[in-house]
This record gives sequence, structure tokens and C-alpha cells, in this order.
Amino acid sequence: MDQEQQPQAYPHVLLFPLPAQGHVNSMLKLAELFALAGLEVTFLNSDHNHERLVRHTDVGFRFAKYPRFKFETIPDGLREDHPRLGVSFMELFESMELRTKPILREMLVKINPPVDCIIGDGALGLVLDVADELGIPIFQFRTISASGIWAYFAIPDMIEAGELPIRGNEDMDRLITRVPGMETFLRCRDLPSFCRDSDMTDSNLQLIAKETRKNLSAPGLILNTFEDLEGAILSHMRSKCPKIYTVGPLHLHLNTRLAETNGTMVHQSPNSLWEVDRSCLSWLDEQPKESVVYVSFGSIAVLSREQIMEFWFGLVNSRKRFLWVFRPDFMPEKGSIPAELVEGTKQRGYMVGWAPQEEVLAHCAIGGFLTHSGWNSTLESLVAGVPMICWPYFADQQLNSRFVSEVWKLGLDMKDVCDRRVVEKMVNDLIVDKREEFVKSSAEIAKLAKACVNVGGSSYCNLDRLIEDIRSMNR
Ligand code: UDP
Repeated sequence: MDQEQQPQAYPHVLLFPLPAQGHVNSMLKLAELFALAGLEVTFLNSDHNHERLVRHTDVGFRFAKYPRFKFETIPDGLREDHPRLGVSFMELFESMELRTKPILREMLVKINPPVDCIIGDGALGLVLDVADELGIPIFQFRTISASGIWAYFAIPDMIEAGELPIRGNEDMDRLITRVPGMETFLRCRDLPSFCRDSDMTDSNLQLIAKETRKNLSAPGLILNTFEDLEGAILSHMRSKCPKIYTVGPLHLHLNTRLAETNGTMVHQSPNSLWEVDRSCLSWLDEQPKESVVYVSFGSIAVLSREQIMEFWFGLVNSRKRFLWVFRPDFMPEKGSIPAELVEGTKQRGYMVGWAPQEEVLAHCAIGGFLTHSGWNSTLESLVAGVPMICWPYFADQQLNSRFVSEVWKLGLDMKDVCDRRVVEKMVNDLIVDKREEFVKSSAEIAKLAKACVNVGGSSYCNLDRLIEDIRSMNR
């Protein structure tokens, strides 16, 4: 029997992300790290996202590079023309539970060679249910920070202490005492956004906590973070879940491991669901060092016209240069744009529908990042040593922005304010007035991130340990 016929030699791992840009992106990086280590990898995408990924990126390079890498697709259960954005994004969870789950079950029964181990997105409880039903070993992967998971985990304790749910007349600056490790800085306003939703009853909140507790009770939990960043919170988490593998920042980890094999550091093509406009890199080449604010609110946020106008006026009035990712579906209400904004943008700004974000953040012209504090964006900024202004949109982002400003001292938190004067002031603080303090801590954390993915670093060793543990599961 030759090697190709011995399934034991290549454990078959199936990865299934929640169908959203940030989840697909980080899980594809993990999939590639597995393929690089010689595992047989199946990456399961929703039909809708896979079609977009194929249209906008070169997915095929993996087939050439890794002989045992493949994609499979599955319906997400939503209509093709469903926006899958803003508040309607949440409809995915119900449709996947109803429609995707039975198809996944059937697929896993039939798949050949059989799957030895599943890496399920911890935000998608149905994967764990199906794996348990079929007796397939599963590791959970959460694409958010350790701190985000830990805050979700503490929801029942916050309810018991009367700290949740948040009422309409709440003092949002009140300190929250029931998330171990965050007692001195976590305010009501920093809790995950769904905690303030007026429709959120105790039982809905308990349900989110229950799903998170399932993550921690899984045989292993993989996190896109690193020990030097979130060690304090991780040590609390380990009292509930001893097998946590911190392997991040994954984009840097992948680039570093590829450099080990290739001898040079190359940025990977972004795993984008939108068409990447690389012209912004040429525009950046013409701008002075550290002069440009990069503005992006990620892949799911949809802002009102009024909010966009406040940001736009703030940026133009700051008289600083800016590069803004203005997705085609970013602003639902169209309308005319005031002449001073058109003029100000022409003079100092540049807009694209979608940017090669990792490369943009690594560009020497970038001086700051106005971000919605998605976890991937936060990690990418932190690795590039770029200070941030945070305007969190939803979910864990409210918590991330508090850590960025208060714990890691990497920038400013603008949450709950959308005012052109505040935007203008914060842009000036970040680029000029308070630059020195942020640059210093940004450089220190970027250095720690690099060390942890190098040989002997914590994420490097944890990935090796994870791969060993997966190999030992070979059925
Ligand atoms: N991204 C990108 N180009 C853009 C904007 C975003 O490649 O113009 C990528 C970004 O690098 C990140 C992901 O999209 O990896 C967004 O994930 P994040 O967790 O920050 O936010 P989400 O989109 O999930 O809200």
C-alpha cells in the first residue's frame, strides 16, 4: 500500500466557520497552517460565501500548494438576495440551525475519507451538536478574544448579582463586578452589545451564556489570541477549561511559518468576499510617513446616513489624510454629498470599496486606524503597531475597545458617541497630540506578538501541541 492509501498517515480535519468574513478569514488561516503541517484539510464554506470567495480571490493556490486541501460547500438556508448584514445578520443563526444542520449531518456521514476531527466555530452551536451525535471528536474555535468569551461566560453571575440586564435608565459608567479579572475597568457600556438590547430577556442572555459554556466544556478550545496579550484572563478561563490553545495572531503566525518554509516573508492574499481594490496602496505610497488614518468598519456594520456624515465631517475637518473603506452596501440611505466633503476628500482622502487590510496596516504611511473594533481588525492593527480610535458596532466589539484603550493603551475609545467634533479631536490626538504615548505601547505589543509566533514562542508551541493532539485522534 502506498502512502496515499493510508488514511492514518494524514488525519482528516474539517473546519466549518460561521459564514462571515472575519470567521472565514481567520479559520482559513488556521486551515492553511494545518495543511502546511501535512494534515488533510476540508474547509466547509456556505454556498453563498464560497461563490464570493472564488469570484474575488485566488482560492486555487492552496490546491497547488497542498495536495490534500479541499473546499466543500453547504447552504446557509437564507435566500440568495438576503443582505446578511447589520441587524439582519442574526437571521443566519436560525436558518442554519433549521436548514444547514440536517445537511451537515448527512454530509459528515457520507464524507470520504471519513473526518477524524472537526474544528467547529464556537459561535455555531449546531456543529458541536452534530459532531457529538455522530461521535466525531471536535475542537471549538472562537474567533473573538479570550476576554470576550470570558465576559459571555459570566452572564449568569451578572444576572444573579442584578448587574444584568441593562435597563433603559441605566448609568452606563457603573462598574461591573462579576467578570473575574475585569472588576476595576469594565463598565456597563463595555459589555457585549446584546446585553443592552431591550428585547434581551434573562432567558435569552442565559442562552448565550449556555452556548459559551459549551465552548469551554469542549475537549479543546482554540483561540486567535496570544498569552502575552490576554494571559491574565486566560488563567481565569483555564480554571474552567484546561485545554486552551492560543495560536494567534493567526495571520502573523501563518506568514511566519510560510517564511520558515520559503525563506521570505510574504503577505497572503486576503480571503476576501468583496473585490479588493489595490489602488489604495499606490495612493499610500505618495503620502508622508504615518500621516494617514485608515478607516474601516469591517464586513457586517451598516451605518445610518447621519452617522456616516458625522464621521465624514470629522475626518475632513481634522485636515488629516484618510483612507476609507466604503463598502458598496455600507450606507443604506443614499443621497447627495455636501460639497465641502467632496472637496476635502479630493484633497486629502481616498476611498475604496474593499482594501487589502493587512497590507494597508503594514504600510508606512498609516498613522492610525479608525475601527469598529472587530477582533480580526484589532489583532491586525496591533501586529502592525498602529494605534486605534475605536467605534465599536456590536457584539464583543464594545469589550475589545475597552481593552484597547484602558488595558493595552493602544488608542482611544469613542463608543456611544458619534459626533463630528469628537471625531476631529480624536483623529488629531491619535495622529499628533497624544501620538507618542500610543506609539510606544503599540510598538511594545507588536514586538510581543511577533515573539509568540516565532520558534519557541507560546503560539508556536501551542500550534504544534494542537497538531499533535489532532494526530493522536486519528480514528
Ligand atoms: N477586511 C479587509 N478589507 C477591508 C475591510 C476588512 O480585508 O477593506 C478584513 C479585515 O482584514 C479582517 C476582516 O475583514 O480580517 C474583518 O473582520 P473583523 O473581525 O475585524 O470584523 P467583522 O467584519 O467580523 O465585523
